[in-house]
Amino acid sequence: MSGVNIDWNRVAQEFGTPLYLYDFDHFREQFLKLKNAFKARKSIIAYAVKANSNLSVVKHFAQLGSGADCVSILEIKRALLAGVDKYKIIFSGVGKRDDEIEEALRLDILMINVESEGELQRVEEIAKKRGRPARISVRVNPNIDPKTHPYISTGLSKNKFGVDIETAKKLYLYAHKSPHLEPVGIHFHIGSQLTQLEPIREASQIVADLVRSLKSVNIDIRFFDVGGGLGIVYKDETPIDPYDYGQAILSTLSGLDLTIICEPGRFLVGNGGYFLTRVLYEKRNGEKRFVIVDGAMNDLIRPSLYQAYHKVELIGGEDGEPEPADIVGPVCESGDFLRKDVPLPPTKPGDLIVVHSAGAYGFTMASNYNSRPRVPEIALENGKIRLIRRRERFEDLIAPEIDYLI
Ligand SMILES: *Cc1c(COP(=O)(O)O)cnc(C)c1O
Repeated sequence: MSGVNIDWNRVAQEFGTPLYLYDFDHFREQFLKLKNAFKARKSIIAYAVKANSNLSVVKHFAQLGSGADCVSILEIKRALLAGVDKYKIIFSGVGKRDDEIEEALRLDILMINVESEGELQRVEEIAKKRGRPARISVRVNPNIDPKTHPYISTGLSKNKFGVDIETAKKLYLYAHKSPHLEPVGIHFHIGSQLTQLEPIREASQIVADLVRSLKSVNIDIRFFDVGGGLGIVYKDETPIDPYDYGQAILSTLSGLDLTIICEPGRFLVGNGGYFLTRVLYEKRNGEKRFVIVDGAMNDLIRPSLYQAYHKVELIGGEDGEPEPADIVGPVCESGDFLRKDVPLPPTKPGDLIVVHSAGAYGFTMASNYNSRPRVPEIALENGKIRLIRRRERFEDLIAPEIDYLI
């Protein structure tokens, strides 16, 4: 069932559990599929670093020519360190601090993606102080229901992201007049794990029409940033075909000479990631069966946070009828589970459980809750495995806490 051909027992023995393993070959295939979908135009695939920000992962994409969509200044530093060209880096996010804006301008990235009127003014002031105009795009909220989970929908008026069409127009007119601002791009991102094409096409149409009306007043937008959000298969979803996705967007851009920017995160890395955990015990509370493993919500929070479904695969197991069990971790929270009510045969301590589709928003959302060290990350490429982040140690956890020494 595992998408990769790998001896999980050997991996567990070599690196210990829990851990993340990433299939770099899958990452590359996904990247090329999307790049190909836009081949009729100039395009930049700007990997959304927040999905999986391991430097080796970002470097892997950088070597394929990827740009980076970053939501904090330190993500930008990661992207640069990993070899992403500065002119392919976009800075997004609703709450940028002054020091982040200043540093982004100093680093001369492609553009700052502005999400409010207040932010536009801050960028203007900071650019003025530096004496060099700032390249910006405005994140437009097209008020389209992406038909995804409410926590990961971002393109509705009730969401905190972007500005409405009328405000966007106002901001572009303002930026156009300002000697300190250079409006070069336009941006929308309506949600994550999108599986329906129509909302994307509609949003693209709305934003493309805005580009046309800006053009009529001599505001020449060069970068059309369609955000990320392409969904993947976790369970039984029918994902959008990248080719259809490309066609849907291109169909809204007739007569416009634009470079398309696409910012996928999950699509590139989601299905290529595996979380490997080991069975510690089984127990029953009344009728309820629990399989207790060494991985927990602090390592992979998606099931607890979004009720996200992840396919699980048992390596080992005993003879016997499969019976429903909750797979739970050692963290002191009732919400600490990886799957609920999954039919499993009897297990024994030491069996392995592979959690699939854990490459996006897995490790990057991990915490040290319960003083649990963050787990190692392993790359699989051309049939070879290598460690790309070692397991944290006690010393890593306590290093910033120096007060107790005094
Ligand atoms: C999170 C995010 C993305 C990536 O979203 P995915 O669903 O992982 O593709 C792209 N652009 C912006 C602005 C984001 O915030």
